[in-house]
Amino acid sequence: MTFRPYVVGNWKMHGTRAMLAEARAIDRAAERLIKVEVALAPPATLVHACRKEATLIGIGAQDCHPADGGAHTGDISAAMLKDAGAGFVIVGHSERRADHSESDALVRQKAEAALAVGLTVIVCVGETAAQRDAGTAESVVSGQLAGSLPPSDSPAEQVTVAYEPVWAIGTGNTATPEDVAAMHAHIRDELKRIYGEGGAAVRILYGGSVKPENAAQLLAVENVGGALVGGASLTAESFLGIIVAA
Ligand code: PGA
Repeated sequence: MTFRPYVVGNWKMHGTRAMLAEARAIDRAAERLIKVEVALAPPATLVHACRKEATLIGIGAQDCHPADGGAHTGDISAAMLKDAGAGFVIVGHSERRADHSESDALVRQKAEAALAVGLTVIVCVGETAAQRDAGTAESVVSGQLAGSLPPSDSPAEQVTVAYEPVWAIGTGNTATPEDVAAMHAHIRDELKRIYGEGGAAVRILYGGSVKPENAAQLLAVENVGGALVGGASLTAESFLGIIVAA
């Protein structure tokens, strides 16, 4: 199956209004790069402004609370993100799993909350270096998928999986194309097991130190439907380098 590559920038906790110029530049260039679906997940404070600034690319958020609303100081619901202009939300990023002790069950609740208000979701999974060294990478990822993926009648339209080995995030160490191929094939099998035939068309992004120099090679791997990009999405120049390579 061939996919239109989906390249998503995750700005993490970076960005003030000064960075809106980058979003605008990415949006303008995306007009010419229609073979790629481009999206940005700025910090929640910039979702609304990015949506106004960028009219062509997808704009989403990096997390949401599982509840509709209520006494949850500092949290943001999926409906609020949608109201601010988000079209998707990333859930279960390894930094949130680690920094906020997010469990698979919580990640699934967040994904369900997002789908319930009409957002699409990017569900992140990935093993640590210790888990890979112990030979448990595939079983760890299987457990995360089984525990975190939301039930969905149309998984291919609503759900994207991002495989991000923790040891590759922000380290400059990317997984080899062979390792990526093996893990993405494994994730594809799990998606078919969980969603039936609908799992065949769910996009699986690779994330972890994707840069303009390695993007073409990683995105050419079978079952890689795009990239989730952190550091290299912070400037239009480097992010566009990845988009062009895709
Ligand atoms: P990185 O981050 O590209 O900076 O490694 C990827 C991510 O965490 O989504």
